[in-house]
Amino acid sequence: MASAAPLYETYNRVPLRFERGEGVWLITDKGERYLDFGAGIAVSSLGHSHPHLVDALTGQAEKLWHLSNLYEIPGQERLAARLVEVTFADKAFFTNSGAEALECAIKTARRHFYINGEPERIGIVTMEGAFHGRTLATIAAGGQAKYLEGFGPKAPGFDQVPFGDLDALEAAVTDKTAGVLIEPVQGEGGIRPIDPEVLRKIRKICDDKGALLILDEVQSGVGRTGRLFAHEWAGITPDIMAVAKGIGAGFPFGVCLATASAADGMTAGTHGTTYGGNPLAMAVGNAVLDVILEDGFLDHLGDVANALSQGLVSLKDRFPDLIEDVRGKGLMLGIKCAKSNMEVVQAFRAENLLTVPAGDNVVRLLPPLNLTADEAREGLKRMEAGLEKLTRG
Ligand SMILES: *Cc1c(COP(=O)(O)O)cnc(C)c1O
Repeated sequence: MASAAPLYETYNRVPLRFERGEGVWLITDKGERYLDFGAGIAVSSLGHSHPHLVDALTGQAEKLWHLSNLYEIPGQERLAARLVEVTFADKAFFTNSGAEALECAIKTARRHFYINGEPERIGIVTMEGAFHGRTLATIAAGGQAKYLEGFGPKAPGFDQVPFGDLDALEAAVTDKTAGVLIEPVQGEGGIRPIDPEVLRKIRKICDDKGALLILDEVQSGVGRTGRLFAHEWAGITPDIMAVAKGIGAGFPFGVCLATASAADGMTAGTHGTTYGGNPLAMAVGNAVLDVILEDGFLDHLGDVANALSQGLVSLKDRFPDLIEDVRGKGLMLGIKCAKSNMEVVQAFRAENLLTVPAGDNVVRLLPPLNLTADEAREGLKRMEAGLEKLTRG
């Protein structure tokens, strides 16, 4: 007999049913409007139903949905060329998700050493608190017991060092290490930015020891922190980088970017995907870049983000019993709570404001990147109301 709930019970879902989205707003089947400061989880980078993205997707849908990677796909070539133009990278491989972009990144690093006479260099060093996805390799990379438990042996070759601990990292990188894999700002881990100076030192450790630097910018990338990619704040470049979430703005896709040298082992037949780089995804990705690369877009984001974070700091001063700290960069902000972060998320939701919980007792604010100053103020007003009610109990 079928059980009552046909879905896997892997999510504790909030009983809200959203039917439509308009910009930063989500509208339920009952017509209630919620201010969306989660944007999926940093996914809907241009809000909901952005007209330029809707045009791009529907225009492509009328022409051609799918092509195998057996054939040339012009949308892929165009998007890859544009990404190469604005980043450190020379090469791109398109995937369907963030975890797959990480899988490609890990395979790229190992294969580089394999074909260059160092097949024993397979190790990947990551940081505690990291999140790199839910595939068997990426849960091993994240190293968190809660995601590994019960899923068989942890994939070999992944070692974690404490967050930001340079001595431990230096000791962990050996002549068996293919790469150091880190998020410039840990997302799921609780909006924990790596200090730019630490990131520069990690780059140097990799260079000194001949290992590759792999960045996971699945959450922090595509303008989220106010630069196109978060590592730009530190003035360094990686050898390989995984990107997803914001690049598709809600259409599921990711991309692994690499230098020509790092990607030298990824020759014909070594890797592949059925759907990765699908024409629909590429149409959306190119449209997302049209908007985000527009002159002044990131400057405006920075201004709105500054106003939002200043407002949060004022809230922290007013509610020291609820807010311990405000951190993050651009529109990737975290409120470190003094009470349970789940209670704070609920209090905000009671004010029709959506936020996302994270590790380290943090509430994440990841609004659409085209948030206006008025919308930021509206969000702050709702947070203030929620915190006031929590204080009164
Ligand atoms: C979301 C996320 C992933 C995994 O992406 P999926 O699309 O869920 O596979 C990997 N790394 C980081 C930093 C993420 O935030």
